[in-house]
Amino acid sequence: MSTAVFDAIVVGAGSVGMPAALFMAEKGLKVLVVDQFASPGQGSNKCAIGGIRATHSTPAKIRLGLDSLKTFSTWHQIHGDEIDWVQGGYCFVAYREEEERLFNGLLKIQKSHGLSIDWLGRQELANLVPGLNPEGLRGGTYSPEDGAASPMLACLAFYRRARSLGVTFRFGERVTGIMRRRGQVVGVRTDKGGYATGTVVNAGGPWARTVAQAGGLDTPVVPDCHEAGITEAAAPFLKPMVVDLRPTPGSRNYYFCQHVKGQVIFCITPDPALIGSDRRETSSFLPMVARRLVDLLPRMANLKVRRTWRGLYPMTPDGSPIVGRARDLSGYVHAEGMCGQGFMLGPGVGALVARLVTGQPAQGDDQVLAELSPARSQGRTEALK
Ligand SMILES: Cc1cc2nc3c(=O)[nH]c(=O)nc-3n(C[C@H](O)[C@H](O)[C@H](O)COP(=O)(O)OP(=O)(O)OC[C@H]3O[C@@H](n4cnc5c(N)ncnc54)[C@H](O)[C@@H]3O)c2cc1C
Repeated sequence: MSTAVFDAIVVGAGSVGMPAALFMAEKGLKVLVVDQFASPGQGSNKCAIGGIRATHSTPAKIRLGLDSLKTFSTWHQIHGDEIDWVQGGYCFVAYREEEERLFNGLLKIQKSHGLSIDWLGRQELANLVPGLNPEGLRGGTYSPEDGAASPMLACLAFYRRARSLGVTFRFGERVTGIMRRRGQVVGVRTDKGGYATGTVVNAGGPWARTVAQAGGLDTPVVPDCHEAGITEAAAPFLKPMVVDLRPTPGSRNYYFCQHVKGQVIFCITPDPALIGSDRRETSSFLPMVARRLVDLLPRMANLKVRRTWRGLYPMTPDGSPIVGRARDLSGYVHAEGMCGQGFMLGPGVGALVARLVTGQPAQGDDQVLAELSPARSQGRTEALK
């Protein structure tokens, strides 16, 4: 039997791999996507709560976020699939001088890269988020063009589009080796067979390090456990995604929004980080997050929680993604380490990867790639990771 040959093979049918495959297919490439799980989006993608923002602290992420927003906000109109996109904006609340200074300090860079964002005073913020605890509130930022969508519906929509463009999928198949000859990728080995290609994209999410090692490379991505939950549906009362960066014992930032169908969906960052790939939810998450939610928005006390779950952030040491060509293996492309923002960055990163692989850069790609370079020193930490 002859080996199937592809222009590019994407490892991972998740938040990043799916848009990367479809954008490469749009450029005329013959693409294969391999995923160890049974269907699209079964890794971290389905665990995301769906927040989509360009409100970041670094130029590359702002730019990729703005690019992704274009894809999400126009998808239904252009392609017809419902992905539950809602443009409610993002609101970062400040109760301490520390956050007030941080958010105001970032406005200049955010605005200079085209982000629509402003500082709102106490009263304006209280109008935007009715019922917000006024005690100690100093104000916050609001970026009205950010929003949210359903990660599962979006991934499915991208999958359908990719299939219609001729992308081949192999589910339930694990990549075990990346074959090389004289410093060049020549194929991929899986637990079920092998495929020939000159280009491999590592979109392996929290498992990206194992994928890199299958090619004799490495990447500093670790799986970092985060839990989330969803309440019963309520009448609309909350427009933006609300983010609170204040740490409390056991947790750091947390964020929540009201889904288009009425449920409030929320997530928290544990402190210290829970490094590992155990995806079983815990009994300690809900009491911790509920206290913080009710403290910030007392009316939340009346909502019943329906379900909680646990997923993995693909974390990098500095909180920024790793995207670009490998220095030591021609044809190998990094598209990993999305941290807590892979759903919102996915289309932007996917389109960037497609331009990189086809050698058709857009203006500004070189700066983005320099900032996210696999060879960068992981020193400076992204402030809104
Ligand atoms: C609780 C929670 C809430 C979150 N909320 C948000 C949010 O609101 N907004 C946001 O943008 N992000 C959010 N995230 C983060 C987001 O889910 C991730 O950043 C994103 O899904 C990562 O995308 P990815 O494509 O890199 O990885 P994934 O979506 O996990 O895709 C990687 C895929 O690679 C496959 N794979 C790996 N290794 C192999 C192999 N060897 N062979 C074959 N297949 C392989 C996996 O099976 C997987 O399907 C949240 C995450 C969690 C856990």
